[in-house]
Amino acid sequence: MAILVYAESAADGKYKKAAFEAVSYAKSIAAQSGDTVTAVAINASESSDSLYKYGADKVLKVSNDALKNFSPNAYAKVLSDLKDGDTIVLPATNDASSFAPLLALKTDATLVTNLISAPENVSPFTAERRAFSGKGIEKVEVSEGAKVLTVLQNAFGLKENPSSGTEETANVSVSEADSKVKVVKVEQASTDKIDLKEAEIVVSGGRGLKGPENWGMIEELASLLGAATASSKPVADIGWRPHSEHVGQTGKAIAPKLYIAIGISGAIQHLAGVNSSKTIVVINSDAEAPFFKAADYGIVGDAFEIVPKLIEEVKKFKGA
Ligand SMILES: Cc1cc2nc3c(=O)[nH]c(=O)nc-3n(C[C@H](O)[C@H](O)[C@H](O)COP(=O)(O)OP(=O)(O)OC[C@H]3O[C@@H](n4cnc5c(N)ncnc54)[C@H](O)[C@@H]3O)c2cc1C
Repeated sequence: MAILVYAESAADGKYKKAAFEAVSYAKSIAAQSGDTVTAVAINASESSDSLYKYGADKVLKVSNDALKNFSPNAYAKVLSDLKDGDTIVLPATNDASSFAPLLALKTDATLVTNLISAPENVSPFTAERRAFSGKGIEKVEVSEGAKVLTVLQNAFGLKENPSSGTEETANVSVSEADSKVKVVKVEQASTDKIDLKEAEIVVSGGRGLKGPENWGMIEELASLLGAATASSKPVADIGWRPHSEHVGQTGKAIAPKLYIAIGISGAIQHLAGVNSSKTIVVINSDAEAPFFKAADYGIVGDAFEIVPKLIEEVKKFKGA
């Protein structure tokens, strides 16, 4: 039997890093269960080689005008029609997370979201997932039946496992009527920015930065480090930064390798979205700021003095 994986691609047709993580995760199940891994690529233009690298035995290419714009209903239909086993793995991206429950319903499967580690056992399926808005880790067991699994980005990570895969074109019966929602206009805000949920490094600013005019140093540091930028909620609420950057309980949940929090107090609602980061660096002028309790490294001081110095040091390091 095959474990089906949704290999999500971006608007430019290239696979997202999350797709490779989902394939890596499926391969870790297959290694224990003896199944094969089939990746489903919808409207992707990138070569399937990158999916074989992480262990896909087969890539099913689906290209259909009705799937040009993302639709939870239509995408759930495609994956449910192509299912050939009892396990479907999706990345925990916004898109895939939005159709995972529908897919579970359609395939009469148990839904397990935000998995973070390789399964301890595949029968019964036993693995850890992120729970309570990132404040806890839960071990779950699916005793029987089909399952739809979502894999948290930057948690399980990429595991190379090259296979000599094959590619096929899958003919799926899907029409615009399956979409239920008609997309009338698509506006792309920015194309050159690093996707916040996929970023390995994130530089984030809070109300301590005093105003939007001071974000130049945050962007410069982020650009030097190849990082995405983020913000606390109030900063997005006041309009200093776009809401797409707001992280936390009510914003995006991220798990980068390095999270640099500048002028952010570290309220529990903020921590809920960032405490899965592997290393947290906090820069805050108040030594009593709660964020220091969650930090791996902390600098007590004025962001307007420290960040420019940090930028200079990174430049020197890169130049060396
Ligand atoms: C239901 C609910 C949901 C919420 N969801 C979220 C969420 O998803 N994400 C989120 O972020 N918040 C969320 N909040 C808000 C949260 O409780 C905090 O109010 C918010 O995170 C505070 O943002 P902040 O740290 O930027 O600002 P502040 O709390 O004002 O902190 C600013 C920090 O900057 C420091 N500072 C000031 N000047 C400097 C300087 N020159 N240099 C260095 N440091 C300086 C200060 O010491 C302070 O620690 C939520 C609240 C509720 C009630």
